[in-house]
Amino acid sequence: MSAAEVRAFLERHGLLANRNLGQNFLCDDTVAARLVELAGVGSDDVVVEIGTGLGILTRALAARASRVVTFEIDSGLVRALRQEGRLPETVELRHEDALKADLLGLVKSVKSDNTPVRLVANLPYSVSGPMLRRILDLRGDLEDWSVMLQREVALRLLAAPGSRDYGSLTVLHALTVSVTKQMELSGGCFFPAPKVRSMFLRIRPLSEPRLEDAGDELAWLERVVRAAFSQRRKTLVNSLRGGAPELLADPEAIASWLEQGGLDRRARAESLAPDQLLALARKLR
Ligand code: SAM
Repeated sequence: MSAAEVRAFLERHGLLANRNLGQNFLCDDTVAARLVELAGVGSDDVVVEIGTGLGILTRALAARASRVVTFEIDSGLVRALRQEGRLPETVELRHEDALKADLLGLVKSVKSDNTPVRLVANLPYSVSGPMLRRILDLRGDLEDWSVMLQREVALRLLAAPGSRDYGSLTVLHALTVSVTKQMELSGGCFFPAPKVRSMFLRIRPLSEPRLEDAGDELAWLERVVRAAFSQRRKTLVNSLRGGAPELLADPEAIASWLEQGGLDRRARAESLAPDQLLALARKLR
């Protein structure tokens, strides 16, 4: 599907690309096929896709996988796709908000007969942060997930401590998954072309989980690191005090704990490695 074909499709159905829904559609079938290859999709796999768009990636996925379940929030696109009969029979198109859909229930039900489930998506950039966070909750049941992201967001997942991009999303990923850069794309591969570059990442759950499932340690860690990074220029203790005062009954105890661990009591969150932030979260619990 070329940019001209994407434009013609939208015009035929009286649709406009909606920026609020992150609608920058891939318009290169060769790239779509390459993404499916890089995602490691096999013939036994069921693939969950977020954001069907015009179905270019969906069709490439269906050419390899046994089944694809794809979510699209935009009723205009869903109607257009159904009218044109553009998706193969092995594709189930769900008109749902993927931020609210029961993805965990879906993945668990597919996986119950040992079918491998992967998630592949050219994520809507407008909501990529919350989507990435939701997908992390599927880490116990997905083989892996491969996502196209705005380059700036992708760099946050790959960032090292102390760098500008290092933040809560980095820490949550570093402690649960491994992230590999697969490909970088220019805006010209999409219609309309975004001003930013994109990066395709493959994300695999750690073979030896670092977090406890019991008591949902990820949710607790998230609370702590979001507060820790809420005021990046302040010290960790002051940022926690501002971001989640209810977590910090005794600021002095935390300052001493930092010192005992060989850190400066005035350290900022960004200077702590993911392991140190996990230790802090456990200390605060
Ligand atoms: N997969 C297509 C492609 O590669 O061309 C479309 C990708 S486009 C970047 C993102 C798609 O996600 C859009 O079609 C948009 O309408 C859809 N979308 C946005 N928010 C969504 C949500 N909360 N749930 C499901 N789909 C969503």
